[in-house]
Amino acid sequence: MALIVQKYGGSSVGSVERIQSVARRVYKTVQAGNSVVVVVSAMGKTTDGLVKLAHDISLSPNRREMDMLLSTGEQVSIALVSMALQEVGQPAISLTGAQVGITTEAEHTRARILHIATARIERHLNQGKVVVVAGFQGMVSTEDWEITTLGRGGSDTSAVALAAALRADFCEIYTDVPGILTTDPRLVAEAQLLDEITSNEMLELASLGAKVLHPRAVEIARNYGVPLVVRSSWTEEKGTWVISPQPIPRALINLEIARAVDHVEFDTNQAKVSLLRVPDKPGVAAKLFGEIARQNIDVDLIIQSIHDGNTNDIAFTVISSTLNRAEAVASAIAPVLRSDREAHEQAEVIVKQEIAKVSIAGAGMIGRPGVAAKMFATLAEVGVNIQMISTSEVKVSCVIDNADCDRAVAALRHAFEIEQSGSEGAAICSLSSLNAELPLTPNTYADPPTHYNGFVPQFGSNADAQTKGTQASSSVNLLPIPPVRGVALDMNQVRLAIRQVPDRAGMAAKIFGLLAHHNISVDTIIQSQRCRIIDGIPRRDIAFTIARMDTQAAMEILNVAATELGWGEVVLDDAIAKVSIVGGGMVRQPGVAAKMFEALAQHQINIQMIATSEIKISCVVAQEQGVKALQLIHAAFGLAGSEKIQVSV
Ligand code: ADP
Ligand code: ASP
Ligand code: MG
Repeated sequence: MALIVQKYGGSSVGSVERIQSVARRVYKTVQAGNSVVVVVSAMGKTTDGLVKLAHDISLSPNRREMDMLLSTGEQVSIALVSMALQEVGQPAISLTGAQVGITTEAEHTRARILHIATARIERHLNQGKVVVVAGFQGMVSTEDWEITTLGRGGSDTSAVALAAALRADFCEIYTDVPGILTTDPRLVAEAQLLDEITSNEMLELASLGAKVLHPRAVEIARNYGVPLVVRSSWTEEKGTWVISPQPIPRALINLEIARAVDHVEFDTNQAKVSLLRVPDKPGVAAKLFGEIARQNIDVDLIIQSIHDGNTNDIAFTVISSTLNRAEAVASAIAPVLRSDREAHEQAEVIVKQEIAKVSIAGAGMIGRPGVAAKMFATLAEVGVNIQMISTSEVKVSCVIDNADCDRAVAALRHAFEIEQSGSEGAAICSLSSLNAELPLTPNTYADPPTHYNGFVPQFGSNADAQTKGTQASSSVNLLPIPPVRGVALDMNQVRLAIRQVPDRAGMAAKIFGLLAHHNISVDTIIQSQRCRIIDGIPRRDIAFTIARMDTQAAMEILNVAATELGWGEVVLDDAIAKVSIVGGGMVRQPGVAAKMFEALAQHQINIQMIATSEIKISCVVAQEQGVKALQLIHAAFGLAGSEKIQVSV
């Protein structure tokens, strides 16, 4: 007998018939000999309706009252699901987040879960009842017992957190699509169903716009090793398993806020090539990286930023031993690009041999802006200047001078309380985040923890499943990880650029520390490669993207800081789209970036920004080209299947 947490999303409980169908599915699971905890979202688009009501009354509704309002949606559905279960003869009881004892931070509208009391649920389960819990909500355990919500889409997080707290055998997320697909089927009907995906890949996809799972749910699954599957509420298909590595043991207190960083990594075997003043027009990145790929040179980080409106800087890192060849390609291409340009502006190639990449790795980095800010502050404290930044949900990397590497690594280990293990060194540290955490050969991983047939789970306990899924034993099948697992589009981002920030240690810490202090997450950070001397100080522009809803707050904070600290103006572009590819197998695979850029170039889509991490590449394009860009890239990587996915409304 297994303990299963099943979560049903809004559309799965959107009508009386659907609630009855959910009840039948739950009943069947219990009949098969399992104990079931059900987590439900609000019916259909209820939460959207409540948000609209609030905005009809107030332009910026009070966040506490917002939680009071939004938490009502789930209270309706738990009662109805519980009644429907009782109607089919299944004893059941509904409980709100507060009644369960889901305690959270006192951060209204985006609270993180601290702890879940399990005694009451276990008591009801032992009496043979199904426990139906309201997703998306919790309470603050002060004497005021304030109601909180976890942020939009947060029911997934409630479900996985409950599965972790209850040490459930697995957690099933039931939704309106057959599982996790190569992209959003509403944008590409031929998106293909994935059998499995690694938690790191899913964390990236979710934070880059794939709404099918809340990123924080994946973070908890990864951190606690909860087997997680996404399935359709309407069919019996197997769905998609999210595969997590063997977790580092952690306590069930401070569930969502404990320890974000698991490793500090470094790689001193890197060199940097920058191309300054290349034309801002479609095809430039495709030309450069196409040639780099033809030379079989593996590129690690790539950044590209718009500079002064009509020229770009592109910088990328390669393994030191390939620097000469990479430089030769860049130098050969620069004059071709230059011929398009006005005579007074020269494209220029700069190489830097002695650089190092230091990284912090864990889960939920972007969702916890304080983590990157702490990394930047730590480097600033020891006087280390940051040349390039790469952010992702699972890793933040900074390119620094080689000479600073030891100091930087020591300071980061100290700051994030990471013990140094004897075996660590540059060789291990340069492996991808995925392969570093799974002790297998590069670009492979173990079979999913289980093969799940209908309602009868084939594995015994959570611990067994995890061991099987992550040990590099000879009995484990090693499957190749595709270079691109999925494509995501985020239309809810804006770009901010701060002009003329002094080029010295501590500036990134200042900017991102200020934003983190206001809980504003930053992605796709790019520092221009060009330095301009103004008032005797070398200065660079810094551009980054943030969530659209944070625009006003970020502009206010940064404008005040710019005046106080003598930065230039803060410029906003709110008509952007970010399209990203994610895949654990892109590490050490030349040509993946080139293919993405080429797909855009062929259709004259201009790339405004490029930012990469080890397992993702993101391009910022004009907003009206976002959907087209996603479709082109999905097709270019051959991700489409022959079957069309029907999404029920
Ligand atoms: P629920 O209400 O069940 O939580 P959501 O609307 O939050 O459902 O998430 C499911 C939706 O996520 C799908 O209908 C689909 O449009 C969207 N989606 C975006 N990217 C993906 C993807 N890669 N795979 C599957 N669905 C995706
Ligand atoms: N009902 C909430 C929302 O719509 C939570 C969820 O569905 O996950 O955001
Ligand atoms: Mg959802």
